[in-house]
Amino acid sequence: MESAQITLASIGDGVACSDSKGNLTFLNRVAEELTCWSHQEALGRPMSEVLEFRDASSHEIAFGQDYPLHLPSNAVLVRRDGVEISVEGSVSPVHHGKGQPEGAVIIFRDVTIMRAMILQIAHAAQHDFLTDLPNRMLLVERINQVIFSARRHSRRVGLLFVDLDGFKNINDTLGHSAGDRLLQSISSRLVEGVRGSDTVSRQGGDEFIVLLSELAHDEDAALTARRLLRAIAQQHRIEEHEVYITASIGISVYPDDGLDAETLITNADAAMYDAKKEGPQGFQFFRPAMNLRVMERQSIEEDLTHAAERHELSLHYQPRVNLKSGEITGAEALLRWTHPTRGQVSPAEFIPVAEKCGLILPIGRWVLHEACRQIRAWADAGLFLSTISVNISPVEFRHESFLEGVRSILSETGLHPGALELELTETALMKDPDTTEPTLKTLRELGVQVAVDGFGTGYSSLSNLRTFCIDCLKIDQAFVRQIDASIADPTVVNTIIAMGRSLNLRVIAEGVETREELEFLRNQECEEAQGYYFSRAVASTAVRRETFARDSGDRSSTFPRMNASRKDYTSSGRVVFGDHSPAPPIPAAETGNGLL
Ligand code: C2E
Ligand code: MG
Repeated sequence: MESAQITLASIGDGVACSDSKGNLTFLNRVAEELTCWSHQEALGRPMSEVLEFRDASSHEIAFGQDYPLHLPSNAVLVRRDGVEISVEGSVSPVHHGKGQPEGAVIIFRDVTIMRAMILQIAHAAQHDFLTDLPNRMLLVERINQVIFSARRHSRRVGLLFVDLDGFKNINDTLGHSAGDRLLQSISSRLVEGVRGSDTVSRQGGDEFIVLLSELAHDEDAALTARRLLRAIAQQHRIEEHEVYITASIGISVYPDDGLDAETLITNADAAMYDAKKEGPQGFQFFRPAMNLRVMERQSIEEDLTHAAERHELSLHYQPRVNLKSGEITGAEALLRWTHPTRGQVSPAEFIPVAEKCGLILPIGRWVLHEACRQIRAWADAGLFLSTISVNISPVEFRHESFLEGVRSILSETGLHPGALELELTETALMKDPDTTEPTLKTLRELGVQVAVDGFGTGYSSLSNLRTFCIDCLKIDQAFVRQIDASIADPTVVNTIIAMGRSLNLRVIAEGVETREELEFLRNQECEEAQGYYFSRAVASTAVRRETFARDSGDRSSTFPRMNASRKDYTSSGRVVFGDHSPAPPIPAAETGNGLL
């Protein structure tokens, strides 16, 4: 018996015994420490006075002596000094032979640290480590709860998908730690900007979702979106920097835009995507047509992955014409995707998707290789074009292997570098002038030409245009569309032509569709043009050489009435793009130079 007492005394758990009346008869050393009662003081007192166990709702846990009992998982022990500690343990009746129990033994241990760790792990699993906001998992749980109660009370719920505009630039310029501080600053502004019952969550990256749990009217979601956009746009003090950033918000509303969390999030995301297209610092409500676009985007991405290996990609070529000589001076390679079920998919649709998922890199490389190979093959067949223009996405241009790719394709195809012209958009060039400049310089050293595509739509700085190694400006077709021959006033078009001339750059007008446009451009002495008026982009097989008998007079049969110089008629023949019937040629008398 004595050895049993010694064992109980030295055990690592708290042990207490009571007699049949429920009074304490034993308290080991650990139990003394845990309860703050000494055994001298505790012995003989009712067990419930010394061992005050409570559950999570602070109700006292009562236990009799005639059956075993485990303390509930959330049990606490209220120490003599009033402090509560988390415990686990059990109570068992003590029997000497058969009959009524003669008392009880309680074994318990302190699990405060372990329970705190479990809570911490559970918290980490449901919160974002940087901002401590609920993460997507917890958000979905909250949305489901809110929807559950909204359904019962016929209420509306709003979801705001918040995405920062140009956050990457902050990370790139100020560093990741400043980027992190900014995300924290934004998260507190979002939390301050909504009610306590609403949930602000971070989805990762620069995306946040705000759950508005009670929406009286949809307009309230718009008001909150406006308020949050204003709050985000205020100055952020990050380390020693004053940082300004804007955001775009997409809004979906339960029940109209979705009955479950996933649908509401997807639709708010689609609305955000649309808001972004309208420019920074805006918000948009979801419209069902957007969802189709999201699905469309996903399926385009999947199919595009296999497009190249299934030989669904090809290049078409649109001729470029010199407006003085009428000669075809080159062609622009334009990518075509023939999808097995959708048919022709426009590059305007799939190039942005390819840029987003990175597929533009292998695709762009294929395009460049194929265009260079094609112009060589034409030349070998006696069909000479002075340059081939290839569109280069900003993603390709900024990629570290870009220049190496151009070099190796030129050497693989054996094309003279001067026959290659790369078209870069104005925004791609102006985005980061410091890295653009050396890349352009290397291209100039290689002998490759560079054209600014869609000129006039971006924000070129004149000083950059002066210092950059570029050869040509392509006037965006939106400006060509504005040409009305009856207006004699200078338009954007002739401003660009004059600018090009002063910077010593070639100017090409894109998207020329009518004779009026052509005449206007010629009068303004624009050097070159391309557009449906001359020819659409055609397959490589539709480009051929035609030889004409001297003075055949057949100047209207196929497209290149424009390149019908005497020399072409009599010697090597002319290059013909496609076989469609052209618009009537401009009579020589009208144009004055006899070549058109
Ligand atoms: P872009 O470089 O500005 O190409 C001109 C676009 O205008 C082409 O559309 C062309 O077919 C069209 N176009 C030409 N003449 C006329 C005209 O008279 N009227 C009208 N309304 N349109 C005309 P496409 O082929 O659909 O290409 C759209 C855009 O997709 C291109 O604009 C270019 O930015 C991009 N793209 C095409 N191919 C490639 C490529 O291989 N790589 C990259 N990165 N982008 C490409
Ligand atoms: Mg182009």
